[in-house]
Amino acid sequence: MFKGKQGRGRWGWKRVGGLLAAVCLLLELAGPAAYTARAESAPQKETAAQAAQAQQTLSERDNEEVYAVLAGGNRIRTEREYTVPEQPTVYLTFDDGPSKYTEQVLDILREEEIKATFFVVGQLVPDRKAVVSRIAREGHAIGNHTYNHVYSELYGSFKGFWSQAVKTDNVLEEILGEKPFLLRAPGGTATNFDAFYFYYLEQVGYTVVDWNVDSRDATRQGVPAEEIVAAVKKSPLKHQLTVLMHDGAGHGETVKALPEIIAYYKEQGYAFAALDRSVKPEQFSLARSKWARSYSPDSFAASTALVAASGLERQEKNQQAEQERLLAQQSLRAQEEAAAALAALARQRAEEVPLTVALEPRSTWTLAPGSYSFAHGRFAVPLRGLAERLGAQVAWDETKRIATVRSGLLSVEVDPVQRTITEIRPGHAPAVRYLADVSLTDGEIRIPLRYGAGLLGSSIQSYSLDPSDRNVQLASKSGRPTAILHPFDSWPLV
Ligand SMILES: [Zn+2]
Repeated sequence: MFKGKQGRGRWGWKRVGGLLAAVCLLLELAGPAAYTARAESAPQKETAAQAAQAQQTLSERDNEEVYAVLAGGNRIRTEREYTVPEQPTVYLTFDDGPSKYTEQVLDILREEEIKATFFVVGQLVPDRKAVVSRIAREGHAIGNHTYNHVYSELYGSFKGFWSQAVKTDNVLEEILGEKPFLLRAPGGTATNFDAFYFYYLEQVGYTVVDWNVDSRDATRQGVPAEEIVAAVKKSPLKHQLTVLMHDGAGHGETVKALPEIIAYYKEQGYAFAALDRSVKPEQFSLARSKWARSYSPDSFAASTALVAASGLERQEKNQQAEQERLLAQQSLRAQEEAAAALAALARQRAEEVPLTVALEPRSTWTLAPGSYSFAHGRFAVPLRGLAERLGAQVAWDETKRIATVRSGLLSVEVDPVQRTITEIRPGHAPAVRYLADVSLTDGEIRIPLRYGAGLLGSSIQSYSLDPSDRNVQLASKSGRPTAILHPFDSWPLV
């Protein structure tokens, strides 16, 4: 319905819904000139009904179109470019602070040398300004989590939500020198937000962020650390994970759970980062709101005006920041291309060295240069070679494009395209994990050596990364020899 609208508003809106609203704003701010410019692009031939409709001001018509879409329960989405990080990445998020626990969380993050995001409650900020400064100074992101977190005041009407968003922006701006662009809805957007909420907030440059991993640390008071860790570990892994946690009052157990959660993701090969404009925000799909709110074209016009009145400045700043980001991204891309060429060369050189895997008791497996990979400090080796040397059987299902590894009662399905590994043990639910360095390289499946060895009852005893002698020593966990050499059966992928 909005396709074919032409031109870009003076504010550089890139999205069609944004364009419509930009036109409305232009009409209010720039007066008749903008109206004329827009009217010239109207179709020449008009029916009587269309002519009558043209009598209405354009802003009214555009507002009506947008209103109809939103009232129909559909979102008008912001169209933006995002960057997918090369390494799988975790965005840890902490809601409901600052509190006395925030500093403890910051200490852990500093120790682990990782960045995260804090969604702060405005009314808690004045008492803990120094903590808020520290969050920013240490390179973490800060987002708006409303002023008082009281659902009925936030979700009874958009007006209530908006006034709290503005109030929180203001207390944060006082400390940080700028308004945050990130916003998280207390309780999440599902059943709280409707299409109107998303629309108003995105029009003025907020990025609304939900999550795709719930640590369940706020399901009741004092959820024990082990339960929080277990909930995180149970969540499916994806390339980008946004983890919901809390650093507000009463969340000491989250602080206790944090080191293990970080260790868990590091083990799976994840990097950590703070949310920024390049990250596609995790958002729940629109669910029926549990709040009885009524909308009308008049209330829509009033809210649009309300948001425009106090949101214009933030919207302009957001445009500016967005443009700066795109420029920076361009130059970064050029730098990255140069760096990638260098890295490829280095990798090629690194892989010109053979890798020797020593298995017990006296057998060794020598991998020729190019037949294994080494990245981010991890070796990936051919699945079949490893599995069969550790006494497992491997079968390849050509139709499903899945390899199955069997070792005793354990059965493991490896999907090299989805990069998932499903561990099936009798009496247990299948455990699916995502491993970034599972790959299909030169027609063979490679898996991380450490993970693969661990799965098949072995572990890395020692290793050397020295290019003149690159080797790994494996030992069985039970102390029994792990190397049982099997004749290779016919399996097309290694
Ligand atoms: Zn909250």
